[in-house]
Amino acid sequence: MDHFAYRDRTLFCEDVAIPELAEKYGTPLYVYSEAALVGNLQEIQTAFAAADPIIAYSVKSNANLSICKLMAAHGSGFDVTSGGELFRALTAGSKGSKIVFAGVGKSDAEMRHGLENGVFLFNVESEAELHALGAVAQAMGVKAPVALRVNPDLPPKTHAKTDTSVKGVKFGLDIETVVDVAKSVVGHPGLAVVGVHMHLGSPILKADPYEQGAAKAVQLVKAFRAQGHDIRYLNMGGGFGISYRKQEALPAAAFAEVILPAVKETGCKLVLEPGRFVVGNAGILVSRVVFTKETGGKRYVIQDAAMNDLIRPTLYDSFHRVWPVNPKADVPTWPEDCEAAIPNTVAQDVVGPVCESGDFLAKGRNLPALARGDLLATFSAGAYGMAMASNYNSRCRAAEVLVTGRTHRLIRRRETFADITACEADCLR
Ligand SMILES: *Cc1c(COP(=O)(O)O)cnc(C)c1O
Repeated sequence: MDHFAYRDRTLFCEDVAIPELAEKYGTPLYVYSEAALVGNLQEIQTAFAAADPIIAYSVKSNANLSICKLMAAHGSGFDVTSGGELFRALTAGSKGSKIVFAGVGKSDAEMRHGLENGVFLFNVESEAELHALGAVAQAMGVKAPVALRVNPDLPPKTHAKTDTSVKGVKFGLDIETVVDVAKSVVGHPGLAVVGVHMHLGSPILKADPYEQGAAKAVQLVKAFRAQGHDIRYLNMGGGFGISYRKQEALPAAAFAEVILPAVKETGCKLVLEPGRFVVGNAGILVSRVVFTKETGGKRYVIQDAAMNDLIRPTLYDSFHRVWPVNPKADVPTWPEDCEAAIPNTVAQDVVGPVCESGDFLAKGRNLPALARGDLLATFSAGAYGMAMASNYNSRCRAAEVLVTGRTHRLIRRRETFADITACEADCLR
């Protein structure tokens, strides 16, 4: 959390005090650091520089247009998983030649949209999709550039809901049969199989799954080439883990160390699709304590951010650090290990106003006594936070602010009640 730090017991994002932002923009509020966003992207660009890769920022991790624009301005391409994300990448100024189209269920309309805009690669995940894409491309008189997404069947490596490379998940083509699938489309008039794609899952905190995956990818590149396919891209997906608890994550260089040799062996252009690594620790969610409460022998902090703002704890049992924006003098400003005993704290559940027992940001967390009006920061919330936010309980989605040095800009205004009902019709009129 380099660009989020405490000064005199006040949390800052770069050179802006968080209370100032909460006052001006209200809570709950997502706050992003531009320096962190760009720095994380650059860490990947630097680590993999030897391969001159196409870094395709995963739009689904945080789709805000300003963030996409920042990515484009710093040389990133885009990984999109839907027509809507393609629209965002193009609106952010990207050319199709830097966009890879992923997703297990692309519609014909999405395929056409991608082909019309010249995306450089479609990650294809099934035989049915391959044939549908071939037909759409043929009808348009073009050839669709395809990377076959393979499920390399590796041991479990992250949460079951986000592990995409164990046998039996919906993703990718089976590694046992993908060579036959590739053979069946040699010379297809609407398809150019030009790549191998693999996305192992997320977040991944070790390099060896990438080493094992890349080794399998190299074999597939060779097999497809032997069939006559002109394989030019090796797409190793995203999934690089980040530190949510302490310093458990690896630097990008550790992944480069195991991926680059495979790329070199194939002579392919490397494609990467990082999302979380870029934006996860570049954003926090700021909320305000509404009430505190004790019931059933447990202590609750009820604050104004909820599962509709950040669903990761509910959905994936994810761990996010939570700590006061203004910690008082009797507690450490920033405890090294927030899961160990911390003086003058007591275990509390941090929950939101939504009517679900599953509505929580943290459980049994050591926190100091909090009072109505206190500000809390939920850290590592930049990825899959706002991107997964909803209007559940008819809550307005939060505002988003981008901090650059001493300046701050609203990059998404807080929704209004009118926004919430804007798409609905009145059946009595
Ligand atoms: C979600 C996803 C990514 C991004 O994953 P991160 O963990 O955010 O890096 C990349 N590629 C594909 C195909 C994905 O589904």
